Amino acid sequence: MQNDPHILVALASIGISHWVRLSDDDRNHVKAQDPSLVTGGIIDDHVTAIRPFPVLDAIASICVSSAKSEVIAVALQLNHDANEIRLTVAGNSAIERRTINHLVRVWALMVRLSNLNHKQRLAPQLEGKASLSTKHDRLAMVSLTYEFSINKIMKRLNRWWTPLKEFGDRFEPVKDEMDGTQPLKERFSNMVLSMEIAHETLQQLSIGQCIKLNEWDSLVKLMDGVVRDMKRIFQSSSVCNIWASRLKVPGEKPFRLRRAIEKLTTHHRHVQALISFADSPRLRLAFEYQLVPVCVPAQPAVPITLPSTAAQWTTVLQRALGDTVPVENDWLAKQSQQLIKEICGGTVLRNNAHCECSLIPHLESTAAVATPSFTYIGLSKLSCCACHNWLRSFNMRGGRQYRTHGRHGKWYWPWVMPPSTPIDVERRFADIVRQEYIQYMLSTGRLRSSSDISDASDGGAEPEVDQEAEKWLAEKLAERRAARTGAA
Ligand SMILES: [Zn+2]
Repeated sequence: MQNDPHILVALASIGISHWVRLSDDDRNHVKAQDPSLVTGGIIDDHVTAIRPFPVLDAIASICVSSAKSEVIAVALQLNHDANEIRLTVAGNSAIERRTINHLVRVWALMVRLSNLNHKQRLAPQLEGKASLSTKHDRLAMVSLTYEFSINKIMKRLNRWWTPLKEFGDRFEPVKDEMDGTQPLKERFSNMVLSMEIAHETLQQLSIGQCIKLNEWDSLVKLMDGVVRDMKRIFQSSSVCNIWASRLKVPGEKPFRLRRAIEKLTTHHRHVQALISFADSPRLRLAFEYQLVPVCVPAQPAVPITLPSTAAQWTTVLQRALGDTVPVENDWLAKQSQQLIKEICGGTVLRNNAHCECSLIPHLESTAAVATPSFTYIGLSKLSCCACHNWLRSFNMRGGRQYRTHGRHGKWYWPWVMPPSTPIDVERRFADIVRQEYIQYMLSTGRLRSSSDISDASDGGAEPEVDQEAEKWLAEKLAERRAARTGAA
């Protein structure tokens, strides 16, 4: 008899924390997230024949406005007969009307940009006039998306900016002694300084101050520079770790430098992906279709009842471990007591399915099957372990193979399957969770099997650098450096 998959996820969420066993499949997904590989909002991976579509992740991400844990999934369908491009949006909670309105506005700007670029390609003599218009629309895209997502952006800034700034302050006096080439170290210094200036503008925006057009222009130049520096620094796979270890504060773990840079550039990279998608002649076709935004209706909350006694947990554990891993009774009793302590059993918990899981049954429904979806699902953050495994179980049915950009290492609780999960998917999912739990417990020595007991480069094209913007940026940074020296 199978265990209830929800109870197995509860077991995994307590037993396994921050753990990911990277399969080849996951490694491909991780590659998809590498910002240096994105060109025009897509990645062509000729080695794996997988075609990730980061612009969909960008669209999902710019739809997030809340500082709280809002997650959004987006699927794309093209209906050639009806001349429609359908973006189906699902959230962990109900999608608000304002989110859809925002998506429509962003798409309209992408269409305008694409049309202007197209005209410019057809009539190069209009270059000056057209480039002014495209610049205006690019700034409109930047201000629209930054304003909508400012709470989310400030949450990231509040978490990562001060530690990065402090790291930059420790870096400067010993820069000459640090590993890495001089140009790379200069790039890092410039990056921190640029972020400092950009941060001031974002703080003004977060308290409701009006940001003028020239300030948006400055923000774009600063953050474009930061992303260029990031790509160069990330080309060296180890330099961030080497610098972080060298400048470690005694008694603390090394600063997660690469993570901080990724987090602080996330929003801007998404905006760049949208703009480069609109700039791409190859992908222009997408903008000739009429946009139809679709919301996945809010799913009913699913009730789950967990074991309320240690004896019930013992039965769950015995079933989960099966005959393959015989264990001692003492171990079972200790684990069961621990589970009762950590999870409040007996009460009925209710939760909604996470967005990527609720999106797929919707896409597979009869009405949607007439216009099959792209198999790449855009997500505003990585999938949790349970969702990732639910997706794997669904794909094992042999129909369309849905993919996201990967998973992080966490198991969330309470977590529920979409109510319409087919029984074969449910069974496979329960088995995968069970196997991951067992492997984790064995590999970390938390569980001993019976035998142990008896034996006691950058692949993407660098965007063209605007010479004037480059000059402006150099002057701005020199000005800031001079002001600092003067103050000191
Ligand atoms: Zn999830």
